[in-house]
Amino acid sequence: MSTTTTLPELERSAPVRHRPALSYELFPARSDVSFDRLRETVRHLEATGPDYVSVTSRTGHGNLDRVLELTEHVLAETSLRPLVHLTSVGSTRAQLVTIIHALLDRGVRGLLALRGDLPEGHRLEDDEIPFARPLVELIRDIERERTATLAGGRVSIGVAAYPHRHPESPTTSHDTEVLVAKERAGADFAITQVFFDAPVYCGLLERARAAGVRLPLVPGFVPATNPRRLARLAALSGVAPPRDLLHRLEIAADDVERRRIGVRFTVDLATRVLDAGAPGLHLFTFNSHAEALDVLDHLDLDRWSTASQGETR
Ligand code: FAD
Repeated sequence: MSTTTTLPELERSAPVRHRPALSYELFPARSDVSFDRLRETVRHLEATGPDYVSVTSRTGHGNLDRVLELTEHVLAETSLRPLVHLTSVGSTRAQLVTIIHALLDRGVRGLLALRGDLPEGHRLEDDEIPFARPLVELIRDIERERTATLAGGRVSIGVAAYPHRHPESPTTSHDTEVLVAKERAGADFAITQVFFDAPVYCGLLERARAAGVRLPLVPGFVPATNPRRLARLAALSGVAPPRDLLHRLEIAADDVERRRIGVRFTVDLATRVLDAGAPGLHLFTFNSHAEALDVLDHLDLDRWSTASQGETR
């Protein structure tokens, strides 16, 4: 073991400012060909030095092999840290226990605890975990059991937060109560659902802080370049993109023009949200690096760097 580094050297070389958190969402490949393309995307994203990449899943719906494939690739062949999404619906509690152990065994230390979307007509079984909060508790229980093998380390647990009311929630206040409960259960941070208007994110921030939530609420952004993708996302999340943005994308002359419009829109939105104090940005990439990199190129994240503790003024 090398012991040549001295404290004064560390102090000289340590960064004194931290840029906002940066992360990307990826979904597992559906075929070997798309996995090859995905590896290429990961390589491009890695070059931007993100804090982690998140790997989506539908845990109870048969894509675990592909989730593990991408997670293992990230762990073994890149310098990146994976945050693996874990959904409770569709799996029994016992199956989730097995999956959590399997992920920890592979070296995963970040989990996004989600309920998952309920498939049409889905009736929750008795042994199914019905909400994200008890899933957070289950992960913390397993973490406690394994403290020795984790070398006392903690698992970082993220949860979802909703700038717009969750489609099944009666009110945004109910959403806030759910977020409070997820924090009390042991969540460390939250990533938001998409939104297209900075005041909507600020509203979430205000409601959460007023209710005592201290979790960092990392805003999720989709590079808004593709109208078909935005429509699919709206169907899934219940969050519709602004009509004038959709219209401008639809009448754009070509893909180059669409990309310019969408990247500009996303950069403006991210700028307003970072100005309002957001702790970072999480880009839903749809496994395409080009637009995500465009957004990043235009953002200059260093502008929002904050001083690290102990920096002298
Ligand atoms: P919960 O926090 O459990 O909330 C679900 C609903 O139940 C809400 O309406 C809430 O108000 C209500 N509720 C919660 N607790 C209670 C309670 N005690 N009593 C009464 N009502 C309650 N889905 C996937 O399938 N795979 C993914 O990889 C995925 N990734 C995502 C990533 C992000 C950043 C986000 C924001 C969402 C993601 N989703 C994913 C979608 C998510 O699974 C859905 O939005 C789902 O409908 C809710 O999940 P949740 O974890 O927020 O659930």
